[in-house]
Amino acid sequence: MNIDFSKYTDGLVPAIIQDYETKNVLMLGYMNQEAFTKTIETNKVTFFSRSKNRLWTKGEESGNFLNLINYALDCDKDTLLIKVNPVGPTCHKGSYTCWNENNKQDYGFLSKLEKIINNRKNNASTEKSYVASLFEKGINKIAQKVGEEAFEVVIEAKDNNKELFLNESADLLFHYLILLQAKEFELDDVVKLLKERTD
Ligand code: AMP
Ligand code: ZN
Ligand code: ZN
Ligand code: ZN
Repeated sequence: MNIDFSKYTDGLVPAIIQDYETKNVLMLGYMNQEAFTKTIETNKVTFFSRSKNRLWTKGEESGNFLNLINYALDCDKDTLLIKVNPVGPTCHKGSYTCWNENNKQDYGFLSKLEKIINNRKNNASTEKSYVASLFEKGINKIAQKVGEEAFEVVIEAKDNNKELFLNESADLLFHYLILLQAKEFELDDVVKLLKERTD
């Protein structure tokens, strides 16, 4: 990997950080050779922080590390694209990314799952993706799946196999998140409504 650090007078190369699953851009940081090497060695994204004037491993205080998946240089080798698996919200203000989503409530993994589902809805190829193929089949099919999974939850609730009940509950929640998106809603819309009812 021949990163062209010489392009910049301060030797700091911009590193675009992207969630490898959802493809969202999470943040932008800068790396010198040392930061890049440390990132590769530890599999945790490490920048050179201009404000701290030292190496900064993202997550060092918060625990919200960016686990390295892979990286690529752009056409003229002066900008990095780094794909990561983020642990928790990337922005220090508490949101998933440093852009746009400051007002959005984060439901942890469920929010991440929603983004993956949304990504499949918008642009995944149906051959590979079960979720994309469901969107292709349309709302009726998705609604029917939710009905089937709900029925399975009922059956397993009456039985006393806890593991089966939990599995069917996961199926139900998963398909329900898909149905919400098929209807142009998201989990947050439902939660807001529930909150309104208790006010
Ligand atoms: P962390 O690296 O997540 O433990 O955060 C340590 C400190 O780095 C925070 O208190 C912020 O000052 C800063 N910081 C963390 N995440 C970001 C970010 N995404 N963009 C800018 N500054 C950040
Ligand atoms: Zn370039
Ligand atoms: Zn931020
Ligand atoms: Zn099921």
